[in-house]
Amino acid sequence: MSMPDFPVQGGCVCRSVRYELTAPPLAVYNCHCKDCQRFSGAGWSMSMPVNAESLNILDGSVVHYDKPADSGRVVRMFACAECGTKLWNEPLSSPEMLVVRAGTLDDLAWVRPVGNIWTASRAHWVEIDPHLVNFDGQPPSRDPLYAAWQRQMAAQS
Ligand SMILES: [Zn+2]
Ligand SMILES: [Zn+2]
Repeated sequence: MSMPDFPVQGGCVCRSVRYELTAPPLAVYNCHCKDCQRFSGAGWSMSMPVNAESLNILDGSVVHYDKPADSGRVVRMFACAECGTKLWNEPLSSPEMLVVRAGTLDDLAWVRPVGNIWTASRAHWVEIDPHLVNFDGQPPSRDPLYAAWQRQMAAQS
């Protein structure tokens, strides 16, 4: 497993939306919150924060849904206008960042998650690796996840 050459590409199920990531993400981690379970249709989703300027839409069109969080903040969630695949979120409180759904990348070999958030709401059968960077809920800061991702990238290159 080694880091790819950037840009890398991803897209939706119907192939109408294609995007590229021109630089490595800031981290990859699993989110076990109830909304991610609903949006993914699975036990968790793989969140991949990126600098907004490093994501370019190459083709297709996206629609969005503004999801209010308990904190009162709004998260704008983008999906393919044709097939509805959830592609990325824009936390309106930090517009310089996008949180891409890592499973939409074409190649997942290098996107091994470095941690877990919202473990308190995980399905009881999910085993959390205690050696990863884990939080019961929303992390007060993503910095520990970013640092773990930097260490993993250095080990992979
Ligand atoms: Zn689509
Ligand atoms: Zn979540």
